[in-house]
Amino acid sequence: MDKILEDTAVELLRRAASELRREYVEAIYKAMEKCEGSIGRSQLDAIIRNIELARKSSEPICQDTGIIGFIVRMGEDFPVRAGLRDILVRATRRATEEIPLRPNAVDLFKGNTGDNVGPGIPIIDLELVEGDELELTAFPKGGGSSNVAAHAMITPGLGLRGVKRFVVESVARAGSLGCPPYFIGVGIGGTEDRCMLLAKKALLKPFQVRNPDPNIAALEEELLQRVNELGIGVMGLGEGPTALDLHVEAAARHPATMPVGVVMSCWALRHATAKVTREGRVHHL
Ligand code: SF4
Repeated sequence: MDKILEDTAVELLRRAASELRREYVEAIYKAMEKCEGSIGRSQLDAIIRNIELARKSSEPICQDTGIIGFIVRMGEDFPVRAGLRDILVRATRRATEEIPLRPNAVDLFKGNTGDNVGPGIPIIDLELVEGDELELTAFPKGGGSSNVAAHAMITPGLGLRGVKRFVVESVARAGSLGCPPYFIGVGIGGTEDRCMLLAKKALLKPFQVRNPDPNIAALEEELLQRVNELGIGVMGLGEGPTALDLHVEAAARHPATMPVGVVMSCWALRHATAKVTREGRVHHL
């Protein structure tokens, strides 16, 4: 089972690095068809050609192959437990060599580790769930769009009005720095750290599918419209969409706090997921 998981993790990193999900590519095509300006159209065309080249050659979509992260949903009866970290570390080293991935893990004192593994890296976010399967998502995150993430503890009295203003201002501040068009995750509530994790996980919600809670769905619609009205456009050139999608995840909060996290991804929102059964069968999703 260890070898199956290691091979699966390597394959997920390869798919995440070199194959953008079909629905994202279709949205970029549609944006190009709708874009009236020639600058925006040519940028979107270059993005699409880049995506096609990466897929055909199985090479990374971008030179920044990201800091390596995995999201794990582990069934309580799945046979591998504490050994999973070692497996994912081995997979990260192998993927770095074999795909190859750019070494992006920098130790505070020793510098770049050269193999994408370092203290706390790969990031592993683990959730225990019912059942006997393991769902593994590779989610490498580039540095450019991570640099424009934003966090605030809003005065609770400002309520949702303050939250909305902070989200729109955060995207305005990001401008072109994170390679738009963006995917935007917003986390509201929880604690100062939890809202950022909510925001990051919100990026992976089903594309252009609104939250089942009608209040959150309306908030998503409003924020997506408002960030697009900023007119940042493709690569910050003022033409085409600023954001392709926006999701909100909310948690309850302390009455004296209103934590808000905004996590952005560039157009290359890279992730890949597989399910592994307790017998070792692998289904790529
Ligand atoms: S923000 Fe995205 S597209 Fe831009 S350099 Fe980083 S990974 Fe590449």
